[in-house]
Amino acid sequence: MIKTLRFWIMFLVSFATIGILSITLFSGYYVTKENLINNSLEINRVYSMKLSRLTEEVFNGMQSNLQIKATEIIAHIDDVDKLTEKLADLISSSKNFNSLSIVNKDGVVLATSPEVGIIGMKLDTEGPKEALHERKNLISAPYKAATGRLLILISTPLWNEKNEYLGFLSGTIYLQEDNIIHDILDEHYSTDGSYVWVVDNKGMLTYHPDPKRIGDSVSENEVTQKVLAHGSGTQKVMNSEGNEFLAGYTYIKSSKWGVVSQTPYKVSIEPLRGMVYKMLLYALPFVLFFFVLTIILTERLSSPLRKLATFSANLKVNGGQSEFLDIPTWYFEAKQLNETIHEYANSQQQRVEDYKERSYTDPLTGLKNRRYGDEVTARWTMDKRPFSVIMIDIDDFKSVNDKFGHQIGDEVLKFLAEKMNDIIRGDDVCIRMGGEEFVILLAETDVQKAMVIAERLRVNVSSTISPTNDKVTISLGVGSYHSNRETIIELFIRVDKALYQAKMAGRNRAVQSGI
Ligand code: GH3
Ligand code: MG
Ligand code: MG
Repeated sequence: MIKTLRFWIMFLVSFATIGILSITLFSGYYVTKENLINNSLEINRVYSMKLSRLTEEVFNGMQSNLQIKATEIIAHIDDVDKLTEKLADLISSSKNFNSLSIVNKDGVVLATSPEVGIIGMKLDTEGPKEALHERKNLISAPYKAATGRLLILISTPLWNEKNEYLGFLSGTIYLQEDNIIHDILDEHYSTDGSYVWVVDNKGMLTYHPDPKRIGDSVSENEVTQKVLAHGSGTQKVMNSEGNEFLAGYTYIKSSKWGVVSQTPYKVSIEPLRGMVYKMLLYALPFVLFFFVLTIILTERLSSPLRKLATFSANLKVNGGQSEFLDIPTWYFEAKQLNETIHEYANSQQQRVEDYKERSYTDPLTGLKNRRYGDEVTARWTMDKRPFSVIMIDIDDFKSVNDKFGHQIGDEVLKFLAEKMNDIIRGDDVCIRMGGEEFVILLAETDVQKAMVIAERLRVNVSSTISPTNDKVTISLGVGSYHSNRETIIELFIRVDKALYQAKMAGRNRAVQSGI
């Protein structure tokens, strides 16, 4: 596939531009995506930590409220009315409890606030049993109460001054109803689909924005397992509906719960949407600018080579001859090529001209040869240019050779050539036709003028000492071309006849062709 340099440069630049742009866009996209994911994970982790701390503080507060109240209660342990009053005080001052109750060491309820219909009942559920058994400050695991509610029990033991165990004072949090945990966590419920959930040490949901889910087991969940391993960290998870989330989690020591905050994966990477498009849009003016610049530079870069190629092609077609071009060479290679090609073309042209010159020249005398004469007469005839012909033959040349040798004979030929050159002017041409026969072509010269020139040459030759140390003479035939009547060949036959007549008439003379 042969294409121009310009094509390949443009191809290369386009390829590189698209390549770099793609790499930039893709790497930008992925780095941003990774940052968004890591940010979201970290935000959720910090958030879950904050919430767990808050929850822990609230639980601790509730516990100490109970402890303070316990000392007042011990004094009135046998006065149910007083007990109920104390409980009513506490529940109205601390809104954190859903209910309060005092239970004796046998598990029988002595007083409650508000009235939930269990006074006098012996409690047989997990929370109270644990409190009676442990006899210390406790936050129970969630359990189903006698009232059917799912709740947790925060309790403090009651000891009299004789160190006898009297039972416990407890507050409850109804997990599935309005409660303090909801108050803390609900306000963090976000519209972007992020939410918080809390799980107890057995993998049961103790808080979820959807109250119906509270009490469900999520022990299979990857985050549940991690947070219950007492951890704090981040994790990409799938929720029960199959949506991906980025979660941060923290373990609460006092209640042994795990708090998980999570944001939908899609929401976290939402800023990516349209990012590639935007980046492209920002890049576009620059890309266009550089493209135009590239086109201009490519043109400047390739034009010298293109011109040189055209120049070389012309050289080939015209056999070494080509019009010289002004080639801009503003870079080294083009400059070098330009100089070399032009130098080569110059020398080639010179050589062709030399060959031509040589092929038209008689080597002995330096005059033009018959071939050149044929071309000149053909050209003049075509141009309808009038001309005359003088045909010259050396008299008794054989005897010159015989007497003085061939070399002197050659010198005589050169001597005659010189004399011929001396008398011509302008466009006239002296030709050696062969042997010792010569022709002078006289441009725009009529036969009379030609006769004068012939006569002048004859006299000049015959009156000059030749290389033989003697005089040589020449005979001449003269005629002018009548284009409308004859061909060049006929003209030469005619003039040759005149020359013959000059020989016949005794030589050393010029005879005008009589037509
Ligand atoms: P004429 O007066 O009739 O012309 O007598 P001529 O002796 O000159 O006879 P012709 O013209 O036939 O002479 C031709 C001679 O020219 C023959 C040859 O020896 C001589 N000749 C031809 N070419 C050359 C050449 O190149 N060098 C030399 N030295 N002699 C040549
Ligand atoms: Mg002859
Ligand atoms: Mg002769």
